[in-house]
Amino acid sequence: MTAFTLRKKLFNLRELVLLQKICATNEGADILREAISVFAGNGVMEEFSSLPKIFRDVVVNEQWERHRNFLLTQIYRDIQRVSGWYSPAAFVASVLDGASQKEIKKFNEQLEDLLQRPVIGEVGEASIDAAIEWDPFLHFLF
Ligand SMILES: Cc1cc2nc3c(=O)[nH]c(=O)nc-3n(C[C@H](O)[C@H](O)[C@H](O)COP(=O)(O)OP(=O)(O)OC[C@H]3O[C@@H](n4cnc5c(N)ncnc54)[C@H](O)[C@@H]3O)c2cc1C
Repeated sequence: MTAFTLRKKLFNLRELVLLQKICATNEGADILREAISVFAGNGVMEEFSSLPKIFRDVVVNEQWERHRNFLLTQIYRDIQRVSGWYSPAAFVASVLDGASQKEIKKFNEQLEDLLQRPVIGEVGEASIDAAIEWDPFLHFLF
Protein backbone atom coordinates (compact mmCIF):
# COMPACT_ATOMS: atom_id res chain seq x y z
CA MET A 1 0.00 0.00 0.00
CA THR A 2 1.43 3.42 -0.93
CA ALA A 3 1.69 6.22 1.63
CA PHE A 4 -0.93 8.14 -0.37
CA THR A 5 -3.43 5.26 -0.21
CA LEU A 6 -2.77 4.84 3.50
CA ARG A 7 -3.41 8.55 4.07
CA LYS A 8 -6.79 8.22 2.35
CA LYS A 9 -7.67 5.11 4.34
CA LEU A 10 -6.81 6.92 7.58
CA PHE A 11 -9.03 9.80 6.52
CA ASN A 12 -11.90 7.35 5.79
CA LEU A 13 -11.40 5.81 9.22
CA ARG A 14 -11.49 9.19 10.95
CA GLU A 15 -14.75 10.17 9.23
CA LEU A 16 -16.36 6.76 9.82
CA VAL A 17 -15.52 6.94 13.54
CA LEU A 18 -17.23 10.35 13.74
CA LEU A 19 -20.20 9.05 11.74
CA GLN A 20 -20.69 5.91 13.78
CA LYS A 21 -20.74 7.98 16.98
CA ILE A 22 -23.45 10.25 15.58
CA CYS A 23 -25.54 7.43 14.09
CA ALA A 24 -25.17 4.77 16.79
CA THR A 25 -26.10 7.13 19.63
CA ASN A 26 -29.03 8.49 17.66
CA GLU A 27 -30.37 5.06 16.77
CA GLY A 28 -29.56 3.84 20.27
CA ALA A 29 -32.05 6.26 21.81
CA ASP A 30 -34.80 5.11 19.40
CA ILE A 31 -34.07 1.42 19.95
CA LEU A 32 -34.01 1.82 23.75
CA ARG A 33 -37.35 3.64 23.65
CA GLU A 34 -38.78 0.77 21.61
CA ALA A 35 -37.27 -1.84 23.96
CA ILE A 36 -38.80 -0.04 26.95
CA SER A 37 -42.18 -0.01 25.19
CA VAL A 38 -42.14 -3.82 25.01
CA PHE A 39 -42.32 -3.85 28.83
CA ALA A 40 -44.35 -0.64 28.95
CA GLY A 41 -44.76 0.46 32.60
CA ASN A 42 -42.32 -2.20 33.80
CA GLY A 43 -39.80 -1.02 31.19
CA VAL A 44 -39.35 2.30 32.96
CA MET A 45 -39.01 0.76 36.42
CA GLU A 46 -35.38 0.37 37.44
CA GLU A 47 -36.38 -2.31 39.98
CA PHE A 48 -37.59 -4.43 37.06
CA SER A 49 -35.28 -3.69 34.15
CA SER A 50 -31.87 -2.21 33.35
CA LEU A 51 -33.30 -0.45 30.27
CA PRO A 52 -33.81 2.93 32.02
CA LYS A 53 -30.11 2.95 33.00
CA ILE A 54 -29.00 2.04 29.46
CA PHE A 55 -31.34 4.72 28.09
CA ARG A 56 -29.69 7.33 30.34
CA ASP A 57 -26.27 6.15 29.16
CA VAL A 58 -27.26 6.56 25.51
CA VAL A 59 -28.31 10.14 26.17
CA VAL A 60 -24.95 10.81 27.84
CA ASN A 61 -23.14 9.15 24.92
CA GLU A 62 -24.88 11.55 22.54
CA GLN A 63 -23.23 14.45 24.36
CA TRP A 64 -19.72 13.49 25.37
CA GLU A 65 -16.79 13.36 22.97
CA ARG A 66 -18.65 16.28 21.36
CA HIS A 67 -22.31 16.58 20.53
CA ARG A 68 -24.01 15.81 17.23
CA ASN A 69 -23.85 19.33 15.74
CA PHE A 70 -20.15 19.63 16.53
CA LEU A 71 -19.37 16.30 14.80
CA LEU A 72 -21.56 17.12 11.79
CA THR A 73 -19.64 20.39 11.44
CA GLN A 74 -16.30 18.62 11.84
CA ILE A 75 -17.03 16.19 9.00
CA TYR A 76 -18.00 19.07 6.69
CA ARG A 77 -14.77 20.92 7.52
CA ASP A 78 -12.68 17.75 7.10
CA ILE A 79 -14.05 16.98 3.62
CA GLN A 80 -13.36 20.57 2.52
CA ARG A 81 -9.90 20.59 4.13
CA VAL A 82 -8.59 17.50 2.29
CA SER A 83 -10.23 18.22 -1.08
CA GLY A 84 -6.84 19.27 -2.54
CA TRP A 85 -5.48 15.71 -2.28
CA TYR A 86 -8.66 13.66 -1.74
CA SER A 87 -11.66 14.75 -3.76
CA PRO A 88 -15.12 14.48 -2.17
CA ALA A 89 -16.16 12.19 -5.05
CA ALA A 90 -13.22 9.84 -4.42
CA PHE A 91 -14.01 9.81 -0.70
CA VAL A 92 -17.66 8.85 -1.31
CA ALA A 93 -16.68 6.17 -3.85
CA SER A 94 -14.15 4.75 -1.38
CA VAL A 95 -16.41 4.55 1.69
CA LEU A 96 -19.26 3.18 -0.47
CA ASP A 97 -17.03 0.57 -2.09
CA GLY A 98 -19.32 -2.25 -3.25
CA ALA A 99 -22.41 -0.04 -3.64
CA SER A 100 -23.96 0.45 -7.07
CA GLN A 101 -22.64 3.21 -9.35
CA LYS A 102 -26.13 4.71 -9.30
CA GLU A 103 -26.04 4.97 -5.51
CA ILE A 104 -22.53 6.43 -5.49
CA LYS A 105 -23.53 8.99 -8.14
CA LYS A 106 -26.59 10.03 -6.10
CA PHE A 107 -24.50 10.66 -2.96
CA ASN A 108 -21.82 12.45 -4.96
CA GLU A 109 -24.36 14.83 -6.49
CA GLN A 110 -25.84 15.59 -3.08
CA LEU A 111 -22.40 16.13 -1.55
CA GLU A 112 -21.29 18.36 -4.42
CA ASP A 113 -24.42 20.46 -3.94
CA LEU A 114 -24.00 20.72 -0.15
CA LEU A 115 -20.32 21.69 -0.45
CA GLN A 116 -21.37 24.70 -2.56
CA ARG A 117 -23.81 25.81 0.12
CA PRO A 118 -23.18 27.59 3.45
CA VAL A 119 -23.66 24.54 5.69
CA ILE A 120 -21.29 26.09 8.25
CA GLY A 121 -21.61 29.65 6.97
CA GLU A 122 -22.93 32.69 8.79
CA VAL A 123 -26.26 31.86 10.39
CA GLY A 124 -29.17 32.71 8.11
CA GLU A 125 -31.99 31.07 6.24
CA ALA A 126 -29.66 29.56 3.59
CA SER A 127 -27.22 28.13 6.14
CA ILE A 128 -30.01 26.72 8.31
CA ASP A 129 -31.62 25.03 5.27
CA ALA A 130 -28.27 23.61 4.16
CA ALA A 131 -27.43 22.36 7.68
CA ILE A 132 -30.85 20.69 7.91
CA GLU A 133 -29.99 18.75 4.71
CA TRP A 134 -26.43 17.94 5.81
CA ASP A 135 -27.65 15.93 8.81
CA PRO A 136 -29.82 13.34 6.93
CA PHE A 137 -27.30 13.26 4.07
CA LEU A 138 -24.64 11.90 6.45
CA HIS A 139 -27.14 9.62 8.15
CA PHE A 140 -28.02 7.93 4.84
CA LEU A 141 -24.39 7.87 3.70
CA PHE A 142 -23.54 5.94 6.86
C1 LIG B 1 -20.38 12.34 31.29
C2 LIG B 1 -19.53 13.34 30.54
C3 LIG B 1 -18.15 13.25 30.60
C4 LIG B 1 -17.35 14.17 29.93
N1 LIG B 1 -16.01 14.05 30.01
C5 LIG B 1 -15.20 14.95 29.40
C6 LIG B 1 -13.78 14.84 29.47
O1 LIG B 1 -13.23 13.91 30.08
N2 LIG B 1 -13.02 15.79 28.87
C7 LIG B 1 -13.59 16.81 28.17
O2 LIG B 1 -12.87 17.64 27.60
N3 LIG B 1 -14.93 16.93 28.10
C8 LIG B 1 -15.76 16.04 28.68
N4 LIG B 1 -17.14 16.17 28.59
C9 LIG B 1 -17.66 17.35 27.93
C10 LIG B 1 -18.34 17.02 26.62
O3 LIG B 1 -17.40 16.75 25.62
C11 LIG B 1 -19.22 18.23 26.31
O4 LIG B 1 -20.27 18.27 27.25
C12 LIG B 1 -19.82 18.12 24.92
O5 LIG B 1 -18.81 18.20 23.96
C13 LIG B 1 -20.85 19.22 24.69
O6 LIG B 1 -20.29 20.49 24.93
P1 LIG B 1 -21.02 21.56 25.86
O7 LIG B 1 -21.64 20.82 27.02
O8 LIG B 1 -20.05 22.65 26.11
O9 LIG B 1 -22.23 22.10 24.99
P2 LIG B 1 -22.20 23.27 23.91
O10 LIG B 1 -21.05 23.08 22.95
O11 LIG B 1 -22.32 24.57 24.60
O12 LIG B 1 -23.55 22.94 23.12
C14 LIG B 1 -24.85 23.34 23.62
C15 LIG B 1 -25.84 23.15 22.51
O13 LIG B 1 -25.52 24.01 21.41
C16 LIG B 1 -25.35 23.28 20.22
N5 LIG B 1 -24.15 23.79 19.50
C17 LIG B 1 -22.94 24.11 20.03
N6 LIG B 1 -22.09 24.53 19.07
C18 LIG B 1 -22.78 24.48 17.91
C19 LIG B 1 -22.46 24.78 16.57
N7 LIG B 1 -21.25 25.22 16.22
N8 LIG B 1 -23.40 24.61 15.62
C20 LIG B 1 -24.63 24.16 15.96
N9 LIG B 1 -25.00 23.86 17.21
C21 LIG B 1 -24.10 24.01 18.18
C22 LIG B 1 -25.12 21.83 20.63
O14 LIG B 1 -25.62 20.91 19.67
C23 LIG B 1 -25.86 21.71 21.94
O15 LIG B 1 -27.20 21.33 21.70
C24 LIG B 1 -17.95 15.22 29.22
C25 LIG B 1 -19.36 15.29 29.13
C26 LIG B 1 -20.15 14.36 29.77
C27 LIG B 1 -21.64 14.48 29.65
